[in-house]
Amino acid sequence: MTGRPVLHADADSFFASVALRTRPDLAAVPVAVVAHVYIASANYPARARGVRSGSLAQDALRQCPELILIDVPRAEVEEVGDALFDIFHDSARAVEPGSIEEAFLDVGADDLAGAAEAGQTLRRRVARELGIPISVGVGRTKLMAKLASRRAKPDGLYLIDSDEEAALRTTLPIDDVWGIGATTLQRLGRIGVFRLGDVDGIPRNELQHVCGTAMARRLWRMRDGTDDAVVRPVEQRSSLTAEGSTAGYARPDKTPAELAAACVERLCHRAERAGLAGTGITLTLRPETGGKAIVLKRTLVAATTGRDTWLEVAGDLLAGAVVPRLAGLRVTLTGLLPLDRVLHTLF
Ligand SMILES: [Mg+2]
Repeated sequence: MTGRPVLHADADSFFASVALRTRPDLAAVPVAVVAHVYIASANYPARARGVRSGSLAQDALRQCPELILIDVPRAEVEEVGDALFDIFHDSARAVEPGSIEEAFLDVGADDLAGAAEAGQTLRRRVARELGIPISVGVGRTKLMAKLASRRAKPDGLYLIDSDEEAALRTTLPIDDVWGIGATTLQRLGRIGVFRLGDVDGIPRNELQHVCGTAMARRLWRMRDGTDDAVVRPVEQRSSLTAEGSTAGYARPDKTPAELAAACVERLCHRAERAGLAGTGITLTLRPETGGKAIVLKRTLVAATTGRDTWLEVAGDLLAGAVVPRLAGLRVTLTGLLPLDRVLHTLF
C-alpha cells in the first residue's frame, strides 16, 4: 500500500472528441462517430438527444435526425491515445491503463488536495497539447477515483473526500460497482442487497453462495474501505496494434493491401515516436463472412523501425496467402525494443 491518493483520468467521448479536433464548427451540434454501422462514440449534444454508443447508426438517426455522422478517424485515434499515455507517464510515478483512453495514476501526492491540484494540471496540459477534454476523479482507492471521474464528466475534476467516501460505503447503489454481471445483480437484489451497506445484514456464507467467494470478498472490502488502492504500473509495452476496416461509413472500400499499408505506416510512425523498434509483424485478417480470423506472422533477424521493410514484409505475407473478402484487418508490430538497445546489439 502506498497510502497515496489515486487519480482516475478518462477522456470524454474519446473518438468523438478526436474527430472534432479538426472540426470545431461542429462542437455544439450533435455528432457521433461510427465504426462500421454502429455508434462508437457520441458528443454531449448528441447524448442529450438520446444518442447512445453501441446503437445502430440508422436508429440513432431516427432518434436525432440532425445527427452528423463521422467515420472513426482511426489513425488519429491511435495517435492521440499514444500521446495521451505519454502525458500520463510524464505526469505520474505509476500508470495503470484501463483502456486506450483511461488510466489510474499515482502522481506522488500525499493528500487529496495535492492530488486534485495535479489532476487540474494534467487536464490543462491534455487540453492544450492534444485538444481533447479529459475528466479526472480523485479518491483514496481505485473505486473512489473511478466513481469520482464519472461525476466529474464532462470536462471536470471531482474529489471524493473522506466524509463522502464514508457515506458512499453505505449508500452506493450496487449497480454502480463495475464488474458485477446482470445475473449476479438480480441474485443480490433477491436477498435485499441494493446498496453497499446492505451486505451488513447478510450472513457471510449466504453472500458467498449468492455471488461467489471472490465477489463477496470484493464487496466486503468495498464496504469496510480496504479495497484496492494500489496503482500497478504495466511493463513497457511490447507491441503496438493498428486496425482498419475495408468498408467504413460513407467511405469507398479499400483493398487488403491498401489497408495493411495504411496500418503499417501508422504503426511505424507511432513506434518511431515512442523510440521503439519492432522485431515481428502479425496480420490478423477478419473475413467478411465472420468465420475464423486468418493470422499471418513473420519475425525478422534484427529489430527495425524501417517502414519500407515492414511494408515489404506485410505485402509479402498477403501475397503468399489466400485472402477472402475481408471485413477488416489488424496489424501488430511485436517484440518492441527501445531504440538505444537496438543500436547496442548492432555494434
Ligand atoms: Mg472515456
